[in-house]
Amino acid sequence: MDTKRALTGKIALVTGAGRGIGRGIAERLARDGALVGVHYGKSEAAALEVVAEIRERGGRAFPVGAELGVPGDADAVFEAFDAGVREQAAAGAEGGGSLDILVNNAGVSGSGPIGQADPDVFDRMIAVNAKAPFFLVQGALPRMRDGGRVINISSLASRHAFPESVAYAMSKGALDTMTLCLAKGLAGRGITVNTVGPGFIETDMNARRRATPEARAALAARSVFDRIGRPSDVADVVAFLASDDSRWLTGQYLDASGGTDL
Ligand code: NAP
Repeated sequence: MDTKRALTGKIALVTGAGRGIGRGIAERLARDGALVGVHYGKSEAAALEVVAEIRERGGRAFPVGAELGVPGDADAVFEAFDAGVREQAAAGAEGGGSLDILVNNAGVSGSGPIGQADPDVFDRMIAVNAKAPFFLVQGALPRMRDGGRVINISSLASRHAFPESVAYAMSKGALDTMTLCLAKGLAGRGITVNTVGPGFIETDMNARRRATPEARAALAARSVFDRIGRPSDVADVVAFLASDDSRWLTGQYLDASGGTDL
């Protein structure tokens, strides 16, 4: 089989896909043949660039703009998503569905240690990192074809002690628990639900943590491969989960941290 086209005929929605890890995921799923909804919150120009680049390479994509972590966020995402799918001739809504793969990638970090915790920041972590993915799955289900995929981007922080950002870690722990519950709940429809937990990946999210060569080297040294991860390192794992090859895998947390802190 030509693995580059493993997702031909599939429709994906990747949240937070204008930059960082989400961008890498959107590009990879499009390369594998999926029509990709490139969701963004604030980064409209970046998301339009991702869509344009995917199209230039012969792939198919459309933008989906909606802020997460605010009332009505999931409805707004699917309003934009449905409009985008309608505009794509090849989307066709075969089998009565319009979505095969939901990647809950968008997230915020930076909550700080408990001594500096702020209730508003805590609420925002939960709203963006846990509540929004929950209601995005709820909104996705009526649209999702049987045999679909839900892939949640968590973090090493939910499995390793991360006191420097405890509310962030807690929000990712909630996401991991959602994966477990939904894996069993959705199995009857052949929908798999899995988590990918990145370690340190070179994106805007941790730019401050690698501001000096020494800090950068220290971050790289956390991985047994002695380098900071790239978005494509995570995207390739997501591509496997999105494909039919992962059909016997559900309810799992896949560590994509390059062996961090083994
Ligand atoms: P990033 O570069 O900071 O990008 C964050 C993405 O999330 C952006 O696309 C952003 O979209 C979107 N987003 C954030 N808040 C949003 C909101 N309120 N509404 C809509 N979209 C929102 O981060 P990243 O490193 O790519 O992280 C992606 C995921 O991986 C996150 O869930 C993060 O927790 C997880 N992760 C990252 C690392 C790492 O080292 N980088 C490690 C472990 C886990 P806009 O810019 O359009 O608003």
